[in-house]
Amino acid sequence: MSDTESTLDDGAVRTTTANLGFPRMGVARELKWALERAWRDDCYDELRTTAATLRARHWMLQRDRDIERVPVGDFSLYDHVLDAALAVGVVPERFGGRPFDPASGNDEDLRRYFVMARGGELDGVDQAPLELTKWLDTNYHYLVPELAPDQVFTARPERLLAHLREALALGVSARPVLLGPLSLLGLAKRTDGGDPIALLDRLLPSYAHLVERLRAAGAAYFQFDEPLLVTDLDPRATDAYRRAYASLRDAAGDAEVTLATYFGPLGDNTELATSLPVDVLHLDLVRGQGQLDAVIAARPDTLALSLGLVDGRNLWRSDLEALIPVVADAIHRLGGAAVQLAPSCPLLHLPVDLSAETALDAELISWLAFATERLDEIRILGRVADGDPGSVAAELEANRLAAAARRASPRVHRRDVAERLASTTPEMGHRSSPYSKRRPLQAKALGLPAFPTTTIGSFPQTPAIREVRKQFRRHEIGNDAYSAALRGEIETCIREQEELGLDVLVHGEFERTDMVEYFGEQLDGFFTTANGWVQSYGSRCVKPPVLYGDIVRRKPMTVEWASFAAGLTDRPVKGMLTGPVTLLQWSFVRDDQPRSVSCRQLALALRDEVDDLVTAGLPLIQVDEPALREGLPLRRADQETYLAWATEAFRLATSSVPDKVQIHTHMCYAEFGEIIGAIVDLDADVISIEASRSQMELLDDFVSRGYPNEIGPGIWDIHSPRVPGDAELDDLLAMAVEALGSDRLWVNPDCGLKTRGWTETREALAGMVGAAVRARDRLATGHR
Ligand code: GLN
Ligand code: ZN
Repeated sequence: MSDTESTLDDGAVRTTTANLGFPRMGVARELKWALERAWRDDCYDELRTTAATLRARHWMLQRDRDIERVPVGDFSLYDHVLDAALAVGVVPERFGGRPFDPASGNDEDLRRYFVMARGGELDGVDQAPLELTKWLDTNYHYLVPELAPDQVFTARPERLLAHLREALALGVSARPVLLGPLSLLGLAKRTDGGDPIALLDRLLPSYAHLVERLRAAGAAYFQFDEPLLVTDLDPRATDAYRRAYASLRDAAGDAEVTLATYFGPLGDNTELATSLPVDVLHLDLVRGQGQLDAVIAARPDTLALSLGLVDGRNLWRSDLEALIPVVADAIHRLGGAAVQLAPSCPLLHLPVDLSAETALDAELISWLAFATERLDEIRILGRVADGDPGSVAAELEANRLAAAARRASPRVHRRDVAERLASTTPEMGHRSSPYSKRRPLQAKALGLPAFPTTTIGSFPQTPAIREVRKQFRRHEIGNDAYSAALRGEIETCIREQEELGLDVLVHGEFERTDMVEYFGEQLDGFFTTANGWVQSYGSRCVKPPVLYGDIVRRKPMTVEWASFAAGLTDRPVKGMLTGPVTLLQWSFVRDDQPRSVSCRQLALALRDEVDDLVTAGLPLIQVDEPALREGLPLRRADQETYLAWATEAFRLATSSVPDKVQIHTHMCYAEFGEIIGAIVDLDADVISIEASRSQMELLDDFVSRGYPNEIGPGIWDIHSPRVPGDAELDDLLAMAVEALGSDRLWVNPDCGLKTRGWTETREALAGMVGAAVRARDRLATGHR
């Protein structure tokens, strides 16, 4: 800590302010637009300029808020885990094997980078992208590095060096951020299924080299992110962490090394984390509120603590009055020099700047803080901690008033909701008959062939339909014109599906900008923002609605569109809803009651919608729960409780229907193994899942558990514009038949099609229907 102290000119013991990471997209999503133009035009100059402009803007914004450790290297053109893998030269053979640096200035390298991320043609061959999966328990997706058993690592520091130089040139107190070696390995997979951690000793020299090069370029601080330290670790990992951090310590010399942990408390990893040879240990004190005492007790005197006090995962304005005593107490116990003040985690999961928010009234605005305002909170706390509360008195007063107003607001609590919740009975969470009895009734009602084909719900959202939605939103067209436009889209979509020969049709979800926001807009208890965008993966952003109060369904939300579609065709049409767990998980939710209670409120509102769809005659209803898995607590000890209330909420939403109505659910990107029991507990009649990228690997979980109901493993990876060939579709379907037999398989894509174009959609769905027809033929002729 000599560094920190030497920066003090008057000998007073000051705390330090830090940030761990900043959102990349820009307040107007500049990065998204630049990326999409670059991909479309295959031209990367504008993208490079936009990216550099965003980095500079965000660094200055942090500097202006007196942040003394400003993250560098957190910016990514697509994904920070892909960047971390490339920084140590991890490029699987199918992408050329040769290490490269996306910041080389060479278009070929950038093209390769984006093929790894999105799939596409490389050296004349079509390549599938790296697997995409959830970043811990967030709604951000990272690209899973693929490591060979004899992986060779090579340091490629150019990108980090370039960013460091840019930041230093701006006079920013730059702290390079690297994903820590153990989290990189732990989040990667080995192509032979072996343990990635076994590659640690091969990896460490490359990390040391990166650190040395950054040191030589002027880095005085380092941040290593090890979010896996808040998960259950294999006991063997302890030794691996010690070896890794001994090596990084050596390489960093006298630079200040921060080990950043976040998304939960350290728990039984406290001893390990506090014993590693680093200067600063960052703690998430929002999700791991109670851990400070244990960490202080375990820590050696030389270890400073970075207190993650303001929430990097949720957008409620912090109650600074409550945090000030926590900071004061920490200073008292540790000394100011051993205290850093920071957000709980990188701010990647928050929108950029509240001042761009136009949709909300002043009261609601006053309850919120986005990434920029979080750093204001850190600045204010820093001033108070350093004995200068006078300079922030007005801001403190505004904060106090806002916190008090929200606590007392009549907009939050509703008596009718409390009463309905209290009168909910356990029977309401169960279908009237078991699946074995429902199955023949549904088969009779629906009359579907073997390998029935369907889609996951959304169809391409064309510029035309986006424009219509925008005009409606801006009141440029009225209800009737809007309705007519949507009906036109639905009709076209139904005809397309009929022509393609799909068996179960959908209306296409054209009325929805987003599967969660759409419901958020219609339910009381939610508000939606105009500009609260958060990165989901690559250029994809979501605008989570904000669940701030008790939930009430004002009126039917989807029935008009679903029943219009059903009236257009003789084929069965599937109603389409987003499930309670996903609505919860993909929203910013209130922090004044348990998540389980909010989830139950959502389930009851959806139950009414399900009833209305049944009344309207829809024979199938899909209730999507793609977020069930990511809501899983990181610690095994907390998982059972979560899964119990989450599956109960799903059943509460879906169990009122008659036996002959078929309930579907859909999930994507799930590691199914750990939650397969919960998936059985949902008791959905049919589940569709993402499976194509992993080559049906995840069906193993369904097989070993003896999954009893019907299942549609996706055979078309819709996350890339690539259209799969017939052989590929046949192979994937054959693998599914091999695993699960022929009598309960559905044929569908991995996920919804709203981001795809019509051309590739038509081609791929035609291929998919063809694969189903061939599978039926094989079944009829007795070949598998
Ligand atoms: N029904 C939604 C759609 O098709 C499901 C999306 C999802 O699983 N993420 O878009
Ligand atoms: Zn999906």
